[in-house]
Amino acid sequence: MDNSCNRFKFGFDHLGVSSLNSQMKLEASVSQVPLVGQHYTRKLKKLGIESIEDLLHHYPFRYDDFTKYKKISELVAFEKATLQVRVSKIVNITTRYRKVLTKASVHDDTGSLEVVWFNQPFITKVVKVGDFVNLSGGLSTFNGRPSFVSPEYEVISNGREPIHTGSLVPIYPETEGISSKWLRSRIKFILDNTETSEISDFLALKIRETYSLIRLETALRHIHFPKDWTQVEEAKKRLAFDELFLIQIKALTKRLEWKNRGKSPELKISNVQFQISNFIDKLPFELTPAQKRCVKEITEDLGKDQPMNRLLEGDVGSGKTVVSAIGMFLTYLNNYQSVLMAPTEVLAEQHYATVREITRPFGLRIGLFTGSKKTPREKEKIDIYIGTHALLFDSIHFKNAGFVIIDEQHRFGVEQRAKLLEKGKTRNLTPHLLTMTATPIPRTVALAFYGDLDLSLLDEMPPGRKKVKTFVVPPEKRKAGEEWIRKQIQENKAQVFVICPLIEESEKIQVKAATDEYERLKREIFTDLRLGLLHGQLGQKNKEEILSKFRDSQMDILVSTSVVEVGIDIPNATIMIIEGADRFGLASLHQLRGRVGRSEKEAYCFLFTDSKSKKAYNRLKFMERIYSGFKLSEIDLKLRGPGEIYGLKQHGLMNLKIATLDDSSLIEKTRRIAQEILLKDRQLERYPELRDKIEKFKWVEPN
Ligand code: ADP
Ligand code: MG
Repeated sequence: MDNSCNRFKFGFDHLGVSSLNSQMKLEASVSQVPLVGQHYTRKLKKLGIESIEDLLHHYPFRYDDFTKYKKISELVAFEKATLQVRVSKIVNITTRYRKVLTKASVHDDTGSLEVVWFNQPFITKVVKVGDFVNLSGGLSTFNGRPSFVSPEYEVISNGREPIHTGSLVPIYPETEGISSKWLRSRIKFILDNTETSEISDFLALKIRETYSLIRLETALRHIHFPKDWTQVEEAKKRLAFDELFLIQIKALTKRLEWKNRGKSPELKISNVQFQISNFIDKLPFELTPAQKRCVKEITEDLGKDQPMNRLLEGDVGSGKTVVSAIGMFLTYLNNYQSVLMAPTEVLAEQHYATVREITRPFGLRIGLFTGSKKTPREKEKIDIYIGTHALLFDSIHFKNAGFVIIDEQHRFGVEQRAKLLEKGKTRNLTPHLLTMTATPIPRTVALAFYGDLDLSLLDEMPPGRKKVKTFVVPPEKRKAGEEWIRKQIQENKAQVFVICPLIEESEKIQVKAATDEYERLKREIFTDLRLGLLHGQLGQKNKEEILSKFRDSQMDILVSTSVVEVGIDIPNATIMIIEGADRFGLASLHQLRGRVGRSEKEAYCFLFTDSKSKKAYNRLKFMERIYSGFKLSEIDLKLRGPGEIYGLKQHGLMNLKIATLDDSSLIEKTRRIAQEILLKDRQLERYPELRDKIEKFKWVEPN
């Protein structure tokens, strides 16, 4: 492997590259790189690498610091170091257990040393007696003798810089059959055979200077083969900037495109201000300041002839429905229809009931369309359509939709959302779009994820809401907790949810875990109580039966997987137990907790954990005193990183390679710079390289 560079010089023509000095085109397929071929091309694809450029942008996630050179006599046990030695002996030995050991003796002018490698018999083909080699690793013992065990090795020939030893050695995200060592050698080859001019810099000099960013080409060379940690830092700074900056430029460009995608009806508030005020006055409660702010943002957008594309974010129970309903009423007053799509029948029915209730004094006609219900029957004029994806069926025609609302938007696919919007188009008028989510995403993260949307935050709960009293229950308090719960059930007729641990691997395992837990509780803990089990693999009818039993208080405890939590609304349930709570993100726990406390009765949430980790315990403790989903998700972002934010795991943008989403100052900075640029130069005419880059940029639709 280490001689690979030498080997290229021969046989190069067969590999489809005419000469060593011919420039490699960065956009060409990786298969053009010598020694890559079809076999590795396929494997690289698994890492998302298709072009040579992709390979250059496959960044190391850490480095082995092998920069310290030592003589054999200076070695200290376990300290990482690099030796420059000559090989006096090297052989493969097959052990009794049919494993291959490679044993070598090496020396320098201060002494000699034994070296062993396991199961790498090919090393004897690369490293020969008499070779001058670099060995990077640490001194330990083998069979009781001081030895270098499994060091990185590299034959040093004709002045070539070492890349696997003796430096900051990059370690890459790998996949089966693609090692960091292999990646290093291919990336080194590309960098050595790429003209400086070939790596053009899409960031204008002025921007680079203003924000002290190094050139892209330098950054790429240094991220892979840095001389020192300063070079690593500078390279990371530039590449992280690029990553977020490109997302922002793309998002803001999309936002401008959206605004230009066609005219929307101007749903003016000025002519109907009186009716709107009247509508708000007749609500059974006073709007919170946050709701008022969001209503203002939304109704202002609705009044424009550019289509709105806004995300309304707010905790469970923060009152998103009524905010959207005011928009619907405004739409109605302007003689347009509204369409509200929710992910489940239960939610759709809830919305239907709510919207019907609050619009009753004004005589609006509301339609409900789900898989199992359709009301009113054909032909009646409808002002507000509410339903599930059944709204997408061809049998339903909107006459003149002006306002489309999608609840729990992340539960729908991109196509479904696009389809609803397309259906809503009438006479070349595009409806305004409002998406709603209870996923509390910190503002800066939302800026990175949903940069193409306008944001309205409902960051405040209606007053008088009872807080769900929350307790973290460590193993030693479990018994007492269970006894207390039993008492609540027996004496106060409390109803209890038990949510089973989140298990990543598969739904099957989740279901099994829930079933086991159900059996355990039934047999060992709550033997005298009525238990039910709910999980995603039950049929729809079955599920509804169980839920309605629970709703009608024919059941005390409902054991459930975390998958089914959305859409369950049982006002009588007052106790939420979450098993293995340490496995959940805080924001998810918060959402689960939101399933109780929906009535006048005092509600409780118990977070059971068997984790012995102090860190895990302290993290859960935040749940006892913080009741804002936004705050909790910010804490999780700090403590566990962005991957844990509820609902974002599957999001493509999660694959940030080098930037991190908790770097809010960089997110805001890149957004500001992108805005400044686009404000002056919408088409990026003065930045042709950037424009090219953006055109090729793969945008992952937030989902
Ligand atoms: P979510 O944001 O989770 O969709 P909802 O819109 O379903 O929340 O509202 C939750 C409950 O709070 C509903 O019963 C609604 O009537 C009530 N609500 C909404 N706004 C207020 C308010 N300003 N004051 C009191 N109750 C409110
Ligand atoms: Mg809701």
